[in-house]
Amino acid sequence: MSFFKQMDNKSENEKSGSSNPATEKVKCLIIGSGPAGYTAAIYAARANLNPVLYEGLQPGGQLTTTTEVENFPGYPQGVTGPVMMEDLKAQALRFGADIRFGIATSVDFSGHPHKVVIDDEKTIESSVVIIATGATAKYLGLESEEKFKGSGVSACATCDGFFYRGKDVAVVGGGDTAAEEACYLAGLCKKVYLIIRRDEMRASKAMQERVKNTQNIEVLFEHAPKEITGDNMGVTGAILTNKKTGADVQITIDGFFVAIGHHPNSDIFQNYIETDPNGYIKTIPGSSKTNVKGVFACGDVQDPHYRQAITAAGSGCMAALDAERYLGEIG
Ligand code: NDP
Repeated sequence: MSFFKQMDNKSENEKSGSSNPATEKVKCLIIGSGPAGYTAAIYAARANLNPVLYEGLQPGGQLTTTTEVENFPGYPQGVTGPVMMEDLKAQALRFGADIRFGIATSVDFSGHPHKVVIDDEKTIESSVVIIATGATAKYLGLESEEKFKGSGVSACATCDGFFYRGKDVAVVGGGDTAAEEACYLAGLCKKVYLIIRRDEMRASKAMQERVKNTQNIEVLFEHAPKEITGDNMGVTGAILTNKKTGADVQITIDGFFVAIGHHPNSDIFQNYIETDPNGYIKTIPGSSKTNVKGVFACGDVQDPHYRQAITAAGSGCMAALDAERYLGEIG
């Protein structure tokens, strides 16, 4: 089947040349283009739901910012994040998904059909909406951090930790994510510095205990990263400020992991969709259903725990199946 099938998959509104081009009616709208969104598109397209997918601000999602992905089943030699996302997109296109540039800027989920405004201009009316907008890792905002992203600076230990086997690394953050990432890396690396800005950790007591009981984690309380150092091969160290004394401390490391939290991209849904206190969309356990009928959520926007490409893809599949079932019920 040709990739140009995408061209044929015009919505009813486009085909009929509606008098109101600012509004378009579709059956299934998917917002977001990471592994969750593309997988939802593959399943929805194969179920004849004629999905329209808007790619959002970062087509391909967070994975396009990583280098090698070695833990996604089906790629025995590994694959780069951007190539994997192109593969997923090509697969969705092959089944006729209508994939478009555009950002959802506001929504109205007060009635049926659901309304989603794209780029502040055009309104899509859809019987079902699948939210797959992902989450954005927070970074410190250092210039050197930006410079070494992908060559020593990472926001995902499970994705990139493997490349630092037997080496020394640092993790920044004092929450559960940082504690988990430090413990995970401690199993792979020679030494892990855990850099915490306060004199205590925010992480749960259980995670704090795990950190304390892990021999090769050195916790540096009241330290803040000032600069990441490196050469054209990548990161070689970091300069930290000891907040108590004001002195600079130099550490030698090959990897610098930022684990200071994620921001789920759920802001535009807040008026309608229930979230937890951190903004993650709540779904009914064992499903992708949100509190609004016909609106489903998948991927990192509803997952503070796993945040893996494969779990996102799995939940994208769930969302498409839930959407298909719902459409069958409403007729
Ligand atoms: P959190 O917001 O809980 O923690 C962020 C950490 O990063 C805090 O220690 C914070 O410091 C620190 N931080 C923030 N900004 C900076 C900065 N600019 N410089 C240095 N340090 C900074 O995020 P998490 O991702 O850890 O957790 C998010 C949620 O997910 C939590 O509710 C957590 O419990 C949950 N979670 C649960 C897991 C589990 O149950 N297995 C696993 C992972 C997460 P400070 O404390 O000073 O603000």
